[in-house]
Amino acid sequence: MRYLKQGNIALVRESLRERAILCQNAPHLVHHLAFVVPVYTWWHGPYYGIGLKLYDRLAGTLGLSPSSVLSADETLRRIPTLRSEGLRKGIAYYDSQFDDSRLAVNLAQTVHDHGGSAINYMKLIRFLKTGRRVRGGVLRDEETGHEYEVKARCVINATGVFTDEVRTLDEPGAQSLIAASQGAHVVLPKSFLPGQSALMVPKTPDGRVLFAVPWRDHVVVGTTDVPVDAVSLEPTPLEEEIDFILSTAAGYLSQAPERSDVLSAFAGLRPLVKTKGGKHTASLSREHTIITSDSGLVTITGGKWTTYRKMAQDVMKQAERVAGVEPRPCPTAELKIHGWTDAPSTDPVFGMYGSGAEAVERLAREEPALAEKLHPDLPYTAANVVWAAREEMARTPEDVLSRRTRALILNARASVKIAPKIAALLAAELGHDQAWAEDAVAEYEKLAAPYIITP
Ligand SMILES: Cc1cc2nc3c(=O)[nH]c(=O)nc-3n(C[C@H](O)[C@H](O)[C@H](O)COP(=O)(O)OP(=O)(O)OC[C@H]3O[C@@H](n4cnc5c(N)ncnc54)[C@H](O)[C@@H]3O)c2cc1C
Repeated sequence: MRYLKQGNIALVRESLRERAILCQNAPHLVHHLAFVVPVYTWWHGPYYGIGLKLYDRLAGTLGLSPSSVLSADETLRRIPTLRSEGLRKGIAYYDSQFDDSRLAVNLAQTVHDHGGSAINYMKLIRFLKTGRRVRGGVLRDEETGHEYEVKARCVINATGVFTDEVRTLDEPGAQSLIAASQGAHVVLPKSFLPGQSALMVPKTPDGRVLFAVPWRDHVVVGTTDVPVDAVSLEPTPLEEEIDFILSTAAGYLSQAPERSDVLSAFAGLRPLVKTKGGKHTASLSREHTIITSDSGLVTITGGKWTTYRKMAQDVMKQAERVAGVEPRPCPTAELKIHGWTDAPSTDPVFGMYGSGAEAVERLAREEPALAEKLHPDLPYTAANVVWAAREEMARTPEDVLSRRTRALILNARASVKIAPKIAALLAAELGHDQAWAEDAVAEYEKLAAPYIITP
């Protein structure tokens, strides 16, 4: 809706096309979701209705279901916790939702399945050059400190908000490309949004966007768009972002969410590409940009998670030119992603593995201790942890709790409680001692602290 409002039809179309490809190639991670826009002011009805009809037209055969106008009663049936005073009607439209970190894990596994190498905890610290030309990089193993020289015909810099940092390694003083924008979310218990539909407010009284989305038996409410100067791996939500989300949600929900209801609060950084004179990050383009430096370093930045495949296709074309290799057709529009299954399951513990579910379930059956639930407020078992260590390159409690399972985001306090158990399981799997496990827990507690909101 944001891109429609900006008149960026090309980006809407590209996103719709890539959404359809993602639904087809990763059905175990992507599913359709109904969004309901509540209408309290008479002219918002035709305004959003016309916008969404345009969206339907653009989607054409890529559309999930056409948008529709709902009576006030039907709107409340879909979102029973919506504020009913003054509600005139609702508009329903359809989009897709996917588990971002599971897709990242499955993509790394797909790379591996097709003979590629995907390595984590390996940092590029400088480039290898012949004259001015980039010929590879020096990579540091962040666990051992060992450094490796890796030669390459082409190096692609695809480091999101860290794009400028890496470009500076190539060329001190390189022009900065990124305007990072922080977006925060809070996670609430499901009771704040029972049912299957998401709530979408395209324009809050102060002109922002607010949504509340059902997710893994919880509700994710967001988001914000705050320009940030300094980027970090662990951005922290600002107090004013949390206040904005809670107070704005209170204007639309019959029960106002309080700070004490927040199970987890988290933030992310959008790698937006600077435009001349562009000030507000909300209006900066989400399109991707490819730049080839004089050294031959190819940088791709901007873009969206949804369009990652098209971004990769475009940057590979450029990399082929730089490396001087024969162009090859791109097969990824039809490539099934690791875990693909024609019978996706919504099981909270095993569904996320798609076709791998049976193997994880078998693990839990063969070692009954692994079938035990780790915490009453989280769906996960020890089998998820052992599987993450054996099959998904998990190295730390953070990897398991934040990026293989979603425990940190679903319930930060509960995730801290189970961190010692996770560290013990990982230590046994990876051959670490007690001291490693203790350090890993301390490290995790430090990381999780900002996700916990004090009332
Ligand atoms: C609040 C919010 C909401 C969003 N909503 C949507 C949405 O609804 N739909 C959508 O499609 N997109 C959405 N996005 C955008 C999307 O999440 C981002 O575009 C995407 O995650 C960027 O991915 P990336 O791989 O480019 O960067 P990142 O995910 O930031 O990854 C960069 C990686 O580079 C690594 N790195 C950095 N420096 C080095 C180095 N020297 N050596 C080795 N590795 C290095 C980092 O460790 C990191 O893993 C949203 C983003 C935010 C923040």
